Amino acid sequence: MRHEPHSPTTDATKDLRLPNGCLLCGGDLDVRVTDGAARSFCGHCRWISSPHMQRHEDGIHIVHPAGGIA
Ligand SMILES: [Zn+2]
Repeated sequence: MRHEPHSPTTDATKDLRLPNGCLLCGGDLDVRVTDGAARSFCGHCRWISSPHMQRHEDGIHIVHPAGGIA
């Protein structure tokens, strides 16, 4: 387990954690948002994905594109 240092240079990068957000194993999903593009990573099964982000009135929604899941 390693922690990457936070980069205070820009607020365009955000780290989110979605409890039970992994589609494969149901583990916690770490999501990093950089310049509007999201990358998700599951520490349990090492699943890496590029979910879509949708901004709604109640916050940011992370949407995984359908298909591509074995
Ligand atoms: Zn997982």
